[in-house]
Amino acid sequence: MTDVDLKEYLRPGVTLPFCPGCGHRSLLRLILRAIYELGINIDDMLFVSGIGCGGWIASPCINGDTLHTLHGRSLAFATGAKMFNPKLKTMVISGDGDLIDIGGNHLIHAARRNMPITTICADNVNYGQTGGQACSTTPKGAVTQTTHEGNPYYPFDICKLVNAAGAAYTARYLVTQTSEVISSIKKALQIEGFTFIDVISPCPTQFGRQNRLDTTREAYKFFEDRCVTKEDAEGLSPAEMEGKIITGEFSNGRS
Ligand code: SF4
Repeated sequence: MTDVDLKEYLRPGVTLPFCPGCGHRSLLRLILRAIYELGINIDDMLFVSGIGCGGWIASPCINGDTLHTLHGRSLAFATGAKMFNPKLKTMVISGDGDLIDIGGNHLIHAARRNMPITTICADNVNYGQTGGQACSTTPKGAVTQTTHEGNPYYPFDICKLVNAAGAAYTARYLVTQTSEVISSIKKALQIEGFTFIDVISPCPTQFGRQNRLDTTREAYKFFEDRCVTKEDAEGLSPAEMEGKIITGEFSNGRS
């Protein structure tokens, strides 16, 4: 299926609400491709999102049933919908600020309950929509609207956190690792449990601008330089791992 065909999965006449170069554009296509390759009828799915740039991936873009909910509450709505209609393949697509900061409590408990929901975190490492403030995935040292002298804190390893809370499957990839992202979404959609994929999705407009990543290429290279596979990470010292982002699939033995 080509990108032209994927347009059938987009709401007719929709204008994608993302800045030029935003990783969320690619992520939308990767999600749709995974659904297409699995042959899932989009009418059997429900897409739930919260607030923020990542919240715009499902609604208004996808031509299916979508719930655009309150800030941080996408998993609470998705849990209710799934319990009401267990046959629905329920997918949450939302940003890191929405899922991990504002909605962090819902996230750990959805994982603890191993709710059969696939969650895609569109991780732009900042609050993009509101001007580029720091959040709990912002890299240490990064400049944001709220950390002018550099973020003093380490980010969450969100896959570790969700795994520890009880998820069946977690994975993390950069949005440019297209085949890995697609196969990971396909895998997650076939597991009857809580599945979580952290997709690093660069934000040239806010995070890039404030960190003097002056072109879209530089905004992507910032993350390409930091990403390391989990296999390669095993051979690196703590000093070499400083600031790195581990990619791959992670399991707590339940999947
Ligand atoms: Fe994407 Fe950032 Fe623009 Fe939001 S502000 S649409 S994350 S580039």
